[in-house]
Amino acid sequence: MNTPKVPHIVIIGAGFGGLQAARKLAKAPVEITIIDRHNYHLFQPLLYQVAIAGLVPSQIAYPLRTIFRRQKNINFQMGEVSSIDFNSHYIKANGSIIGYDYLILAVGGQTNFFGMSTVENNSFQLKNVDSAVETRNHLLSMLEEASREVDVEKRRALLTFVVVGGGPTGVETAGALAELIIHVMAKDYPYMDLNDVRVLLLEAAPSVMMTYPNELRKATHDLLRSKNVEIMENTKLVDYDGRKVTLADETHINTHTLIWTAGVRSAEITDRLGVQQAASGRVRVEPTLQLPAHPEVFVIGDAAYVENGGGHPLPMLATVAQQQAKAAARNIQKIIKGGQPEPFHYKDPGLLATIGRNAAVARIWGLSFSGFIAWVIWVVLHIYRLIGFRNRILVFINWAWDYFFYENQVRLITKE
Ligand SMILES: Cc1cc2nc3c(=O)[nH]c(=O)nc-3n(C[C@H](O)[C@H](O)[C@H](O)COP(=O)(O)OP(=O)(O)OC[C@H]3O[C@@H](n4cnc5c(N)ncnc54)[C@H](O)[C@@H]3O)c2cc1C
Repeated sequence: MNTPKVPHIVIIGAGFGGLQAARKLAKAPVEITIIDRHNYHLFQPLLYQVAIAGLVPSQIAYPLRTIFRRQKNINFQMGEVSSIDFNSHYIKANGSIIGYDYLILAVGGQTNFFGMSTVENNSFQLKNVDSAVETRNHLLSMLEEASREVDVEKRRALLTFVVVGGGPTGVETAGALAELIIHVMAKDYPYMDLNDVRVLLLEAAPSVMMTYPNELRKATHDLLRSKNVEIMENTKLVDYDGRKVTLADETHINTHTLIWTAGVRSAEITDRLGVQQAASGRVRVEPTLQLPAHPEVFVIGDAAYVENGGGHPLPMLATVAQQQAKAAARNIQKIIKGGQPEPFHYKDPGLLATIGRNAAVARIWGLSFSGFIAWVIWVVLHIYRLIGFRNRILVFINWAWDYFFYENQVRLITKE
């Protein structure tokens, strides 16, 4: 007797959204194929820690085959999805064709340089393991070069670090970079004049952390200033040639380092799908997360444009991707059983960002915290959210070591 064919669900992307969807469908009578261009799941919120020599990539990334080892209804394929045929229900990845009954598109986002090719070509970004390691190598090399540079102006340019984008990633990076220099590098380079070091945080809007409540914006400001980060608000960058930042008011900042955290857009593949796109290239979906005219296709996470009342799009956050993943998995199961999909509603779990040692800002259950308590919440939550017990232990030990001994463990320049 033939066993009845179970529905085949293809998930593209094993980031926060894709992984959560796969887990949610673990016990469902379906067959899942999950595809990602990498063979690991990456915990992007801690990428900046790799860039500032605090963690190694393997502590924030976890092999997908290990994650899915015990899940019986899933097959992982490493590959780059190049196209999707929505009418014939198949995708193409690395030359092979994979058919689907349901598709979950969870391809995430990529850095948005808003068409500024000089900035794209000359700056550093924090989007994947390679870019974070490249940033770490560069930052450490700048200190090495500065230590042997006798010309004062050239040394200052080597020791000027510009972070663009006053959102959580820029704030976290600037704060952690300032601490790396104040606490750690001061010991490694005892003869270097730290007065030559500048960490600047540029933000085009009137304030850093624009999406945070007033009291937390102010707290962020104060905490950054206490770490000697120079905050430049209402400041728009228009060009960067690798040596000189040009601002909209035509003033310049001489620097060899620009870290761009000022924009995210949906992953490049979404531009090639012939679907309706909204701001930042995100794919417009129905409130149920289904693609209009293709109810068997769900788009979730950074790649999806969904409004949460008041005409505002949901932010590109891991929490949004994970909640949408659960909703998409639920809706697919409802449809399989002959039911109707339900609209997605985001439950905001709050806001949290760290600004270095003992310093963070948080808004949880309607209450704002800043300083040490917020920092403890941040540490506990991030260790808890990491995948793999070993990674949790290693990150905890690393952070405890850094905390007590003022040492960033990974001060290795590994480029050729
Ligand atoms: C530096 C940084 C810090 C962040 N900090 C926070 C934070 O503190 N809190 C928070 O909530 N959010 C944070 N975010 C945002 C959060 O990481 C994203 O919102 C979240 O990852 C979105 O989940 P996703 O599943 O949509 O995409 P992702 O997690 O990006 O996953 C997308 C996956 O799709 C794969 N993929 C893409 N295109 C293809 C293709 N064509 N073929 C095959 N595979 C493909 C990618 O390899 C990737 O694994 C941060 C992001 C960054 C970059």
